[in-house]
Amino acid sequence: SPVLPAPDHSGDRGTFRRGFASHGGSIKATLFPGDGIGPEIAESVKQIFDAVQVQVEWDIHFVGKTVDPKTGSFITWDSMESVRQCGIGLKGPMATPIGKGHKSLNLTLRKELGLYANVRPCLSIPGYKTRYDNVDLVTIRENTEGEYSGLEHQVVKGVVESLKIITRTASKRVAEYAFHYAKLHGRKRVSAIHKANIMKKTDGLFLQCCREVAEKYPDLVYEEVIIDNCCMMLVKNPGLFDVLCMPNLYGDIISDLCAGLIGGLGLTPSGNIGDNGLALMEAVHGTAPDIAGKNLANPTAILLSSVMMLQHLKMTEPADMIHKSILKTIAEGKYRTGDLGGSATCTDYTKALIDNL
Ligand code: NAD
Repeated sequence: SPVLPAPDHSGDRGTFRRGFASHGGSIKATLFPGDGIGPEIAESVKQIFDAVQVQVEWDIHFVGKTVDPKTGSFITWDSMESVRQCGIGLKGPMATPIGKGHKSLNLTLRKELGLYANVRPCLSIPGYKTRYDNVDLVTIRENTEGEYSGLEHQVVKGVVESLKIITRTASKRVAEYAFHYAKLHGRKRVSAIHKANIMKKTDGLFLQCCREVAEKYPDLVYEEVIIDNCCMMLVKNPGLFDVLCMPNLYGDIISDLCAGLIGGLGLTPSGNIGDNGLALMEAVHGTAPDIAGKNLANPTAILLSSVMMLQHLKMTEPADMIHKSILKTIAEGKYRTGDLGGSATCTDYTKALIDNL
């Protein structure tokens, strides 16, 4: 059974597809190794790309140590320009301080680059047993607004206010992406996930936009599911879902829940998609500070994200080679990392992947 959806995650609604920047016959792609376990898992990607001789030349950018006044975050303007120029990139996790400190690097990238849809395929890995062996769903998350608009302030002492922004433009755009994606990938059902019974205006507008787009896709089943019920249904029977489309915060939470269904954050890739083929792929997980620097990280999620990147670039042959090697190595079970119950280091596992290419 296919473990990732068919190639081309762009779902670019039939609009112009960019030509990607090339250099000496190779496609240029931005690489953000990121923080925490980021550099370790990025190294795994580099080694495997070298072994497969993938025609990709990395333009590597580390996260800055001070706030760049042009971006208002640790992401430098140069690195953002690199993604704009290359049109394609791969990103390791980046740390965001909790409850204080600088603006999220991830939010800066998504907002500034107009990466409006976050696509997270979540599929069971054959040979790795979890409670379910048939998970095959895709969460599509609005990526630029909602509670993540960064508009928070103290009203008076002891009272703070955080604004949730939902716009027709962003909601329509992500809904159109979700339906187009579903059609492109032969999927049957799109579920809009919401809390419009309480958030009548904001989630109400989001739902309205999904309904308007659904009318254009009579072949696809459209349903609306309240988020709390959705969580219960996912945990009881993930087979009930196919493509899920939702506002930003819900997508963040639900996609981690879905990762848990197939074996954890070490296994789930994602893509941040903008217009004209612009895409920045990244693992769903964070910097894993508890295991950072210990050679214990599972690089599968970022490797599957790199497979999505190659599919997006229509480089299907190396994408398939890397993908098959991942499935074979996990199914063999000899070199699994700690999060999958094994004792292999990130380096051991990477070596096994190279041997299985
Ligand atoms: P986390 O995803 O970093 O870690 C959660 C748990 O999963 C930890 O036990 C960790 O060891 C484990 N884990 C995660 N990835 C793994 C991997 N590849 N291999 C093995 N185990 C793995 O989540 P957190 O601890 O809530 O967040 C830590 C930091 O990461 C925070 O600063 C947060 O803001 C940031 N973060 C960044 C991103 C991103 O860059 N896209 C996403 C989520 C969190």
